[in-house]
Amino acid sequence: MMSNSTDAYQQHDHHRCLKTALAQAKNRCIARKARLTPIRESVLHLLWQSHRPLGAYKIIDQLSEETGKRVLPPTVYRALDFLLELGLIHRLATLNAYIGCPFPDSAHSDCFLLCRECGSVAECSTANVNKSIASTAEQAGFLVESQTVEILGLCTPCQEKMPQPNKAKPIKPEADE
Ligand SMILES: [Zn+2]
Ligand SMILES: [Zn+2]
Ligand SMILES: [Zn+2]
Repeated sequence: MMSNSTDAYQQHDHHRCLKTALAQAKNRCIARKARLTPIRESVLHLLWQSHRPLGAYKIIDQLSEETGKRVLPPTVYRALDFLLELGLIHRLATLNAYIGCPFPDSAHSDCFLLCRECGSVAECSTANVNKSIASTAEQAGFLVESQTVEILGLCTPCQEKMPQPNKAKPIKPEADE
């Protein structure tokens, strides 16, 4: 399994995550002959402030504050589209927010673990999930064009902080027939 869950949920040297992400973005732009303009880089930088996703309007506000002038929504949406296109960020539909991708250079499916308590999101990719999605779709005669799995719950540190009675009951997987 490919995952950044240790980084996303535990205390860690986040500066390293940021540095790696920016370096990966630069390499990817060179490889794709695309340009990481200052606005695109600023948006990516903002999304890598932490492991919590940001909505477009939060990005607009923070950029406006940083630059001291009102940044227009289309400017930010264009930068987000560019970053999505290059696979440097992902969009989380359930939160209507964006998050930096920790492994843009590896082929992976989008599977996210969203902690409802601290708001941190880890990304993971496993062959098992991919295989079951593919076979489920196949049985339904469905052609998969894109897939994003968003799983809501509690990360390990948040589970440990929760008083016992409030602990969510895990959803038991259905038996396969
Ligand atoms: Zn980090
Ligand atoms: Zn990713
Ligand atoms: Zn958490």
